[in-house]
Amino acid sequence: MLAVVFKGNGKLLLENRPKPEIKSDTDALIKITGVGICGTDLHILQVPPAHPAAENIILGHEFTGIMEDAGDGITEFKPGDHVLIDPHPGCGVCGQCRSGHPDRCINLYKKSGIPGQAGTIGIFSNGAMTNYAIVPQQSLYRISKEVPAYVAALAEPLACVVNAAQKLNAVPGETVLILGAGPIGLLFTEYLKACGVAKIIVSEVSAYRRNKALECGADFVVNPKEENLEQYLLDKTIGGADIVVEAVGPLLPDAIRLVRSDGKVLQFGHDELANPQIHVAEIVKKELSIYGGFIGKFTFNKLAGIIESGVLPLEKIVSHQFPLSKIHEGLALLRQGNGLKIILHPEEY
Ligand SMILES: [Zn+2]
Ligand SMILES: [Zn+2]
Repeated sequence: MLAVVFKGNGKLLLENRPKPEIKSDTDALIKITGVGICGTDLHILQVPPAHPAAENIILGHEFTGIMEDAGDGITEFKPGDHVLIDPHPGCGVCGQCRSGHPDRCINLYKKSGIPGQAGTIGIFSNGAMTNYAIVPQQSLYRISKEVPAYVAALAEPLACVVNAAQKLNAVPGETVLILGAGPIGLLFTEYLKACGVAKIIVSEVSAYRRNKALECGADFVVNPKEENLEQYLLDKTIGGADIVVEAVGPLLPDAIRLVRSDGKVLQFGHDELANPQIHVAEIVKKELSIYGGFIGKFTFNKLAGIIESGVLPLEKIVSHQFPLSKIHEGLALLRQGNGLKIILHPEEY
């Protein structure tokens, strides 16, 4: 089967790989129907890398598919089920998993071989940019066959966004500033809009992405290179946004400056190389609450309900769908800022 393989040092090759086999009773063979290119994949391919990954693994951690075969120990799913896949399931038995942090699972971290990094499928073990993947039962969540694969493939980033957004306890009437309108900023826009906030302002330098933000539910969009964001916000809010979501990476100082007193800041943008200077006194004097948001935990169980309900216009976030062999075209579009979420479909096999 044709597979997108990470070769280290920014290199990516299309290789032929054998169809994987079930080796454990609780593993399932998933026929992949759609896999997204993530910003993390771009970070992995940077030189030096802005995110670590294992060499020689098949990339692709944002995916959906159909269960084709299952080990004898799989009781909850059957061949033919359409499934969402949590690419970083905990082991369920270590101290971290049992204290509610499967995202910090000790065994997952051991598997990656790199201190501080979880053994995510598609980053540290073979992922989904190919025809088939082996996935453990605890990663699987059933979804309706009616949901198209290119929408279901958004489950993983949505799980991360739901996990982080829940910390904000957004309520109707609040004002939100979102920094960055990449796929993550747009998922926050859609999700917080559905939570009933009064006003969403999205700050983004790309005109293409600003237009997408409006389609996804933003009330106002602003180009921070052309307008003074602070002044813009003072015109639209009372003393700053109630909530600021940082969905870029290095902009936490701006988020702290632009949120109102007693407001909430969420750092979601993930750039391992970002190390901005923070004005500590501002956090103290404004009595801010600052949250971090990383990968989803105990949020996948909510996703089928959210996606099937159609409450979020997820299809608007998908800018292109390509066959797997066009991965380089997809990466180029993203690097030029001319794409949002790009979904790849496996080649005939
Ligand atoms: Zn991702
Ligand atoms: Zn664990």
